[in-house]
Amino acid sequence: MNCIFCHISPEKYLVENEYFFAIRDIHPITKGHSLIISRRHTCDFFSLQTEEITDLLEICKALRNLLEEELHPEAYNLLMNCGSAAHQSIFHFHLHFIPRYHKDGLSLRTINAKLRFISF
Ligand SMILES: [Zn+2]
Repeated sequence: MNCIFCHISPEKYLVENEYFFAIRDIHPITKGHSLIISRRHTCDFFSLQTEEITDLLEICKALRNLLEEELHPEAYNLLMNCGSAAHQSIFHFHLHFIPRYHKDGLSLRTINAKLRFISF
């Protein structure tokens, strides 16, 4: 299958569990911007199985703990694009985990605009 998220080296994993792993985004829009990706090739949030949702919550918390230790963010935006009209460009589940800082100068509008023009 020609899907880049199906071919990510485990060496890049920041944290992982049974159904998901997290990596740094190759085009970070804030310091620490990461992606949580499903191990299973599945389209988006709505195609996840019930048992995967628990793991998704757990890996979100694990990634948050890692970022707290490393970068001390002040807040987060968690963002999923589900469908092409919502600017999803890779149809393999991924969640943008975006650390926020009071002085990062971004708004939700600028975050969405930046995400539209990068590959993920
Ligand atoms: Zn895939």
